[in-house]
This record gives sequence, structure tokens and C-alpha cells, in this order.
Amino acid sequence: MSSTPVSPDPSTDHPAFADLGLRPELLAALAALGYEEPTPIQREAIPPLLDGRDLLGQAATGTGKTAAFALPLLQRMPDDRTGDPLALVLVPTRELAVQVSEAFHRYGKDLGARVLPIYGGQPIGRQLRALDIGVDVVVATPGRALDHIARGTLRLGNIAAVVLDEADEMLDMGFAEDIDAILEHAPEQRQTVLFSATMPGRIDGMARAHLSDPVRILIAREQAVAGEAPRVRQSAYLVSRAHKPAALGRVLDVESPTAAIVFCRSREEVDRLTETMNGRGYRAEALHGGMSQEQRDRVMGRLRSGTADLLVATDVAARGLDVEQLSHVVNYDVPSAPESYVHRIGRVGRAGREGVAITLAEPREHRMLKTIERVTGQRIMIDKIPTVADLRTRRLELTQAALRESLLEDDLDPFRVIVETLSDEFDLMEVALAAVKLSHEATLPGSDDAEEEIPQVAVRSPREGRETRDGRPGYEGRGERRPARPRASGTTQVFIGLGRRAGVRPQDLVGAITGETGIRGRDIGSIEIADRFSLVEVPNSVADEVIAGLRGSTIKGRKATVRRDRDDSR
Ligand code: AMP
Repeated sequence: MSSTPVSPDPSTDHPAFADLGLRPELLAALAALGYEEPTPIQREAIPPLLDGRDLLGQAATGTGKTAAFALPLLQRMPDDRTGDPLALVLVPTRELAVQVSEAFHRYGKDLGARVLPIYGGQPIGRQLRALDIGVDVVVATPGRALDHIARGTLRLGNIAAVVLDEADEMLDMGFAEDIDAILEHAPEQRQTVLFSATMPGRIDGMARAHLSDPVRILIAREQAVAGEAPRVRQSAYLVSRAHKPAALGRVLDVESPTAAIVFCRSREEVDRLTETMNGRGYRAEALHGGMSQEQRDRVMGRLRSGTADLLVATDVAARGLDVEQLSHVVNYDVPSAPESYVHRIGRVGRAGREGVAITLAEPREHRMLKTIERVTGQRIMIDKIPTVADLRTRRLELTQAALRESLLEDDLDPFRVIVETLSDEFDLMEVALAAVKLSHEATLPGSDDAEEEIPQVAVRSPREGRETRDGRPGYEGRGERRPARPRASGTTQVFIGLGRRAGVRPQDLVGAITGETGIRGRDIGSIEIADRFSLVEVPNSVADEVIAGLRGSTIKGRKATVRRDRDDSR
């Protein structure tokens, strides 16, 4: 779609990316990605970071924090670059290292930024070659970064900025000492940025040790929206990215809204989802800031007249929208800030009408939901994605309701002749059943049999079971078995025959597991390190993979016995 992109009005509190002083190459990259305006954390963090200030920001996944630090670092990248890196981003896991590197690539491709993720588990040779050729930004897990520093392959002498991303996770994983050691190698005159989803005292201590006169940004300002949220039934479904379109369809089928608006983060997502939903038989229309006024008016006309029943929109395009028919707001992604959530759900439940707000959240975005609940002071119920059986029941209910309405209101006489004729040959009940079937299939096309179950995903709070993760052993063992401890359901405890005496630390186990398997650090549950053995809690579904991976590798240079824990009854 084309023409007259709508720029947010800088006189309101919705500045555009250009108002933040970003250079044209970055603005072009953001436009190509379909980002319409900065998220709140970007609005607040980018200007001070461009000024070279240190920053301490509280922001969880989903707020847009990656771009908040990546854009200013890219903007300040000098043209005369040598081989040694200018910026170092430390992250807790290899998945995040890859994700953050990809974000840098996307934003910095017109600037020719060379970005390298380095993490344990990847062959070191490839990293050595890339470091040797020269990189501008290194995104690393602390353990592997320290490895390279010790080898002399990662030189921090030119580093102008260091970012500690998801700092609370890094502390939980026992990386505090590694981070201190790394920062000792970086020049004192540097910019330091720390992002953390939570701000426990230990993060404050870390900030005091490594940041100088930082700007502080807290993304959930309780005062800003408290009490403003309309009374709307609010629920959320946890679903993996891959199943989101199916989950959206399922939820819409069960809810059967009069008209719904589905919010996406970017123009790209709006266009993609509109196409997908149309392909699945919904009458969906896209609405985003890249469309001309005329195009938007046409879309709104179709929604008001009932020709369309699903509007897929960005925040910018939907601002100020008032459509009487709207009964449901769906957040296809968790909004980037509580304020945005409140604005979105304000599209329904107006003037005493009843409204429903539904959020599809990936498991890792669970924390943002909690923040929104806290700020709005309202509960968001986490519901199970409706099953195929739920859908079937709901469809039958809808057909029953439609028939009841027809029985009460319609003039049915013209059809009497059919029933009378057929009743000579068939039982009346059978005639009725056939009529119901035809009506059911005509109003609700699509066979239930073609529907597949959408996997339910569980969330385990990242804080759960972490009490032993910072290196403090949960069991000060002298060889005896630890007392039984309640364990999260759906998990298996893996026994590893090496413990504190072999110098094993939590990060060694996390590194070995994430390095040898496809599982992510955040999926690993509690870790207990006793004198002679360790116990690691992992989801049942990956237990075999973890055991096989650990058996095939070494920990602290040693082979270890690895098996399911004997106490493990599940
Ligand atoms: P993060 O919180 O950094 O993990 O980002 C969450 C998601 O939001 C990522 O998929 C980003 O690509 C996306 N994103 C970040 N900033 C914006 C923006 N200003 N507009 C639309 N999407 C964004």
C-alpha cells in the first residue's frame, strides 16, 4: 500500500522517530520495518543516550528496549572504524545474543555496521575469524566474552559503550563476577547502559558500581494511568509465536465478536496478518499509518457497514477511532507499555457498552502482562486457548441461539409444506435434525474436523526456582541427600555427578546445557550444586535431549555421570 505516510504530531506526546534526532539511514531502516512511532522506552531513552549519558532503565521484553539502546549506539558509530569493537552488549543467553545481533543488523544495515554474536556452545573458530576480520558491535554472553578477553581475541580498548541487557537475569545466572571482570577491561571513559526487568537491590548495587550519574527510566509509571482504565472483560492467552494466527482465529470463533480490532506492532505485521486472516475466511481490513486518508475512510466505511468484521491496525492508525460496533479489542502482541494497553482497550466498553479485551502473549512476555495488571490495577485472566471440543460446543450454541430467534420471530409458514411432505416419509425429529445441520453448516462454514488443537503453553515465572542460581547453593551438602523440595510440575530433575568440589558453578551448567541443546537458558529451572553432584531442573519435554547433550560433552573439562535423578518419580 502506498502514499502519504502519517507522521505523528510532535506537539502531542507522540513524537516520531525523526523528532528524536536519529540519522536518515536509521530512519529509513525503521520505516522499512514498518515501525510507525517510538515506544515509550525508546522515546525516553534515545535522546539521553544520543547525548552520551549513562542510563539505568527498567524495561521487560516487549517494550522495544533493544532498539532503545541499539539505535543510539549505531547513530554514534564513527565513519573511520578500525577492527576493534566500539560497543559491547552483554546478555544472559545465546538466544538473546542472536536476537539482539539480528536487531542491530536490521537497524544498522545502511550504516554497514558489523555485528557479531558470541556465546558458549558455538565453535570458537568461527568467532575467532570474525573477530580477526574486525567487528563494530559484539553481543556476548559473559562467560564466552571473558574467554575471548583472556585469549586476547576480544580487545576492549576502543569500547565506547557497554550495554548490560536483562541484567537481573544475568545476576540470577551467577554472572556478577564475570561482568565485573569484563568491565575492568573496558576503558573508564565509556557510556554504560543497564536494562533490567526488575530492580532489586543487587541491580542498584551494580548500577552504582558501573554507571556514572545515570538517567533513570521506569517504564511503568503507576500514576500515569491509574484509574483511567475502562471496565472491560480482560483476558490473555499464552501462545507460541508459530501458533498465533491459529489462536487468533480460534479465539474469534469462540468469542464471535460483532466487530473486532486487532492491534499489531508494525505495518508489516498488519499487512501480513490481514492477508492470513482473509485466507482463513475472515473479512479483515488493514489500517496503518502508511495509508492515505481516502484509503482509511474506505476501510472504516466497510467496518461500519458490516462488510468487514475485523480491523487489523497499528496504534498510530487507530488513535481516536470510535466505532460503535466494536465489541472486542485484541492485542496480537503485548503492547509496549501499560499506557498503550489502556489506550487500546479504550476502543471498546465506551458509553456503558460492554467490551472485551484479549491479549495474545508469548510465554516470555508474561512479565509485561503482570506490569500492566499492576499499573492498571485490574486483573487480566489467563485463559486456556479453546480446544477443538470447546469450539464445537460454542458453534452448536450459536446455531441453537439462531434457531431460537427464528422460532420466536420469523414467519415460518412458507416452509410448512416442506416439513409436512417430509414427515410422511420421515420422523419429525429427523427432519428437524437435517434442517439444523443445514443451517449450522450454512452459517458457520468450515468443518470442525479440519481444526487442529493449538498447544497450550505454560508459563513459569522467571523468578521461580531461582533462589539457588546466583551461586548460593540450595544444599550445603556433606554427601547426604538433600531434603525433598517442591518442584514445578512438568519438569524433570537431571543429576550430574560433578559438584562444588569440581569447581562447578551454575553458569557452567547453564552454558553446557544451552551450548549442547536447543533449549534456552530461561527454560532451565532451579540449579542445586552440592559438594559432589549437581541437580538441574528442566522441562520434561527436553529432559532426554539435555541428558544426551551433557553425556556427550565435558563440564569443567571433565566427563560426568548424567542421568535422571533417582528421587525423580515423574
Ligand atoms: P524488545 O522489547 O526489544 O524485545 O522488542 C519487542 C518487539 O517489538 C520486537 O519484535 C521489535 O522488533 C518490536 N519493536 C521495537 N520497537 C518497535 C516500534 N517502535 N514499533 C514497532 N515495533 C517495535
